[in-house]
Amino acid sequence: MSSGFSISFAKKCIVVTGGNRGIGYALSRAVAQAGANVAIIYRSSKDAPEVAEKLSKEFNVKSKAYKCDVSDTDLVNKTLKQIDEELGPISGLIANAGVSVPKPALDLTHDDFKTVFDVNVFGVFNTARAVAKLWLERKQQGSIVITSSMSSQIINKSAEATPLAQVFYNASKAAVSNLTKGLAAEWSSQGIRVNAVSPGYVNTDQTSHMEKKIRDFQARSLPLGRFAEPHEITGQALLLLSDHASYMTGGEYFVDGGHLIW
Ligand code: NDP
Repeated sequence: MSSGFSISFAKKCIVVTGGNRGIGYALSRAVAQAGANVAIIYRSSKDAPEVAEKLSKEFNVKSKAYKCDVSDTDLVNKTLKQIDEELGPISGLIANAGVSVPKPALDLTHDDFKTVFDVNVFGVFNTARAVAKLWLERKQQGSIVITSSMSSQIINKSAEATPLAQVFYNASKAAVSNLTKGLAAEWSSQGIRVNAVSPGYVNTDQTSHMEKKIRDFQARSLPLGRFAEPHEITGQALLLLSDHASYMTGGEYFVDGGHLIW
């Protein structure tokens, strides 16, 4: 029996930052599968154009990769306008690009701080503002989904009960979860919804650097007993992008295998 619940983004255009690999790629693929034209924003991966082309062919949608550092305001504004003209009008943004600098606190530098906060906080703000500007100018409604992290709430520990070295990363995710509320508050009355999806551990390049001992300990500690695969994060993001979430804004939704239970 059909539940009658389905999500379609046919004739829509969704922008995914960091959409060429990891969680971002799973998100790009999921929105393409739901019928959207997909603009993939990436920083330096050479195969990003091929990734976009593959999605176009697989799902018969328009998909293109745009090389753009999300922390560069002029470039972000220019790129979002270009996407709007080529694949748009843009109807949704997934601000997903993120970086981490895993070092003990005593070794961290001001440059490390800038590396993390320029992408994870300012980069999210930059892309969200560029899209909102386009929408506000033409009185268009839209939905922005930000990839935050369970790290906005907690500090992860190793098997020896010492904290994992992620001080700036954790702080940046706490900041971006609060930024989500601030932007939602500013733009909700104009029909722009802003929400965050906060994954737990996901098998991507970002977690591949973890020592096996730490990975195994973390996985064993989780109520669901394993890390997520990237596609398991997509359902919540698609829901928030869609009109099914028309009464949801300013929220942070955890997809963390139960991590925050204990
Ligand atoms: P990956 O390290 O696999 O991919 C990072 C992506 O971000 C790449 O596409 C990269 O582009 C892009 N990117 C990085 N910096 C910039 C920049 N300055 N401008 C444009 N694009 C940039 O990350 P994940 O898939 O693991 O993570 C995606 C998001 O999910 C991040 O925000 C991360 O913090 C968050 N997250 C991840 C978790 C995990 O366990 N993996 C858990 C919780 C949250 P390029 O390929 O060109 O370098």
